[in-house]
Amino acid sequence: MEINFECRKCGNIFDCDVGEVTLPENSLRPHFEKNIICPTCGQRTMDEVFLTELGQSQLTQATLDIEGVDLFDPEDDELSDYGFFEGECQACDSFQPLNDTGLCQECDAKLDRDLIRQREWAYSASAFGVPESKLEELRKKVIEIYGEKLELIAPKKSTPKKSKKRKRKKKK
Ligand SMILES: [Zn+2]
Ligand SMILES: [Zn+2]
Repeated sequence: MEINFECRKCGNIFDCDVGEVTLPENSLRPHFEKNIICPTCGQRTMDEVFLTELGQSQLTQATLDIEGVDLFDPEDDELSDYGFFEGECQACDSFQPLNDTGLCQECDAKLDRDLIRQREWAYSASAFGVPESKLEELRKKVIEIYGEKLELIAPKKSTPKKSKKRKRKKKK
């Protein structure tokens, strides 16, 4: 398949047919069947080229079947910021990356809104850092957009909330 690269040496952006893309075991790097050839500099190793944005999506397409791999630039991957591990979501039972409360991203957002509805500010990630005077406003907004009904915290199921501190905005 063709992948779009940028040569680190000459800055040339070029398409290169790298043949089949595979992912060797114990490696986060995909393996290309053929060599990367810069039209100006000739053969390049993977360290000698950048993957352009186009190249990244091409590669993502090619390795879509390969699970749980961060290619080249894991920082762009929202999940790496979110999920600590994959597992069954406590609330919806789907297999997804979960956060530290055992919820998938979607359910976590629901829980967060529920906590705001119930004025459990201390547990809500969204309410974190919001000045007290603005909390009611935040709640109003949530209800305005998502309605007053609780989405996740249902009487039949115990609340999955934990008294853990929740810091989300942290980035490495
Ligand atoms: Zn070059
Ligand atoms: Zn879920």
